[in-house]
Amino acid sequence: MQAWELARPGLIEGGPLRFVQRPVPVPRSDELLVHVRACGVCRTDLHVSEGDLPVHRPGVTPGHEVVGVVAAIGDDVRDYALGDRVGVAWLRRTDGTCAYCLRGSENLCPASTYTGWDADGGYAEYTTVPAAFAYRLPGDVDDVALAPLLCAGIIGYRALRRAALPSGGRLGLYGFGGSAHLCAQLALAQGATVHVMTRGAAARRLALELGCASAVDAYDMPPEPLDSAILFAPVGDLVPVALRALDRGGVLSVAGIHLSDTPPLRYESELFYEKDLRSVTSNTREDGREFLALAARYGVRATTHTYPLSEALRALRDLKEGHFDGAAVLVNDLPARL
Ligand SMILES: [Zn+2]
Ligand SMILES: [Zn+2]
Repeated sequence: MQAWELARPGLIEGGPLRFVQRPVPVPRSDELLVHVRACGVCRTDLHVSEGDLPVHRPGVTPGHEVVGVVAAIGDDVRDYALGDRVGVAWLRRTDGTCAYCLRGSENLCPASTYTGWDADGGYAEYTTVPAAFAYRLPGDVDDVALAPLLCAGIIGYRALRRAALPSGGRLGLYGFGGSAHLCAQLALAQGATVHVMTRGAAARRLALELGCASAVDAYDMPPEPLDSAILFAPVGDLVPVALRALDRGGVLSVAGIHLSDTPPLRYESELFYEKDLRSVTSNTREDGREFLALAARYGVRATTHTYPLSEALRALRDLKEGHFDGAAVLVNDLPARL
């Protein structure tokens, strides 16, 4: 099969990924082999490719927003059939036995592994997934529109929960890419007022089209104090900016896996009056199932830009340069081999 592999992490402009020929992977006894139909392009793929995240598996195939169909089934898997449509997401395995797993916080499991970082992901014709970590997908949404929900959507949902937005509250979103534009749709559907702070003109336009109340530049103040804010942009300089935009008792949640260093925080203007600053670490399967159900109920849809699988590098470059609004999705346009 054709697959992208990370030859050597470095700036995306230098082409750190290579499109190579590889054997179709063989699923382990508890895994599914998945024929990839579409794979979303997440900012984390960029962080993996550029070396912002350390190498966990040399030559890894990135990609953790996979929509595909089951092409082979490990011997111990009982609850899937050939041809079932499944989603493959970032969280790949946990031990299920540590204190975090046992208290329902498997996203904090020290033994957790991740698709497209610790194991080969979806920038390929085929990939594998532990059956217990695959998602069943609603039947009536197309592959491309679903793919970004599997990371951007789920992480945005966890970030929204971590932001503790009161019912009918005022939510600020810093950065408005793949994750934020899905999070905004869910918050709006549930009655929130949403303000967007982002540098891209196309993203600001999309925010207003989706029904957000305002859209201004990244460092500008929203028109009213915020009950909750989510920082999607991986820019530490925005942490104090967002904290200052919070009302008393407000919560800022930082959604990204990678953030540039934050400047020193000023206690009086940025933290006092019981403002909370929270991080978001991955997600639990429960988050994933809840979000996919809510997305189906409210019709949350990704705005997508498709690229053939062979043009993953161009998609990553366009993501880095902010060339599109919404999310990029790679489409596997090669004929099935099995
Ligand atoms: Zn664990
Ligand atoms: Zn992701």
